[in-house]
This record gives sequence, C-alpha cells and structure tokens, in this order.
Amino acid sequence: MQLLKDKIIKEGKVLSPTVLKVDTFLNHQIDPLLMKEIGHEFATRFTNEVITKVLTIESSGIAPATMLGLEIGAPVVFARKRKSLTLSDNLFTASVHSFTKNVTSDIAVSRDFLHADDNIIIIDDFLANGEAVKGLLHIAEQAGANVVGVGIVIEKGFQDGGKNLRAQGVRVESLAIVNELEEGKVTFAEEEAE
Ligand code: 5GP
Repeated sequence: MQLLKDKIIKEGKVLSPTVLKVDTFLNHQIDPLLMKEIGHEFATRFTNEVITKVLTIESSGIAPATMLGLEIGAPVVFARKRKSLTLSDNLFTASVHSFTKNVTSDIAVSRDFLHADDNIIIIDDFLANGEAVKGLLHIAEQAGANVVGVGIVIEKGFQDGGKNLRAQGVRVESLAIVNELEEGKVTFAEEEAE
C-alpha cells in the first residue's frame, strides 16, 4: 500500500535494527484518514470472504480494526491484556510474549463476543515473531470460530512470524512488508502480499 509506505518513509523512526517507531500515525497519535484507507484496503483484499467479526488486541490494533469493521459492517472485538487473570468461566485466554516489551502477558476475550458460527479476521498493527497473532488464533480456536485470515499493517519480513503463519496455511495480508531497518532507512519487500 503506497500511501502507508510513503508515511513510514516520511515519519517512521528506526529505533534499532529490529524496531520501527510509528508514533505519529499508528502507535500513539493516530492518522484517521490513513486508518480509513487501511480499513478500505483490508476490506478490498478480503472482499471474497464473509466476515462476521474483526478480532484484534489492545491497544494499537484497535484503530485499523475499527476502520475495517466500519467498512464491512462487522463488530470489532479487542483482546484485553491483563497482568494476571483470575479464574473465570466466561473468558477465552492465551499467553502472549511481547517482542517490544519482553514480557509475557495473558490476553482475554469474553465468551459473550466470539461464537462457533463466527467468521473472524484477525487484525494487528505489527507482525514480528507472530506471538500476538498466535494468541488471537488460539482464542478463536477456543471459541470454535473460523479464521478467514490475518491482516497486518506493518510486517517485518526479517522476523519469522509471517513465514511461520503462512507455512501453517494461514492467509496473511500485510499492507507493508519491511525487509530491513538500518539507521534512518527503511527498505520494503517487493511483494506486499503472500
Ligand atoms: P509479535 O507478537 O508478532 O512478535 O509482535 C507484534 C506485536 O509487537 C504488535 O502487536 C506490536 O504491538 C509489537 N511490535 C512488534 N514489533 C514492533 C515494532 O517494530 N514497532 C512497534 N511499534 N511495535 C512492534
């Protein structure tokens, strides 16, 4: 998605060879017009699917997921991160190791919001090692729901998350795939989709 790549080039900050900071439009301040286009692009890529629910994880997945939900008329559910979960009958839960924070936390979704007849799309801001997406897939599996695919705003192609998910047969659509992060320079992969 050229608009997104241009924005990353213009405003992204390379914090290290593995971490890209996009605080000006995705992770702190949000650019609503860009998010609207991102929602439209996800809807276009998954236009052949009937989607009943958009599933994401707080907090940075919520903006792109909501724009997709608006575009396709489906509710958006975000998994909540909790330090410790007390036993509850009414939650689907998974453990997710955060790449950027280097901590493992439990994520949870109420059983009230995901059902066996749901066709789910998983949305997230970044794809690195795939831990967050794996946690969301695990939650969808507990609900007995079908996952039509995964939509990612920025995939870091030099980390293994995307490769592993695709090898498992999961459809992954990333709007920008970063090949390399060097000091002050972001290089994209030629192909954006699988
Ligand atoms: P994964 O679970 O795929 O290893 O990492 C994805 C999650 O970590 C995303 O939800 C995102 O919040 C965070 N993340 C991973 N890499 C980056 C990065 O380079 N920049 C930012 N801002 N977040 C990242």
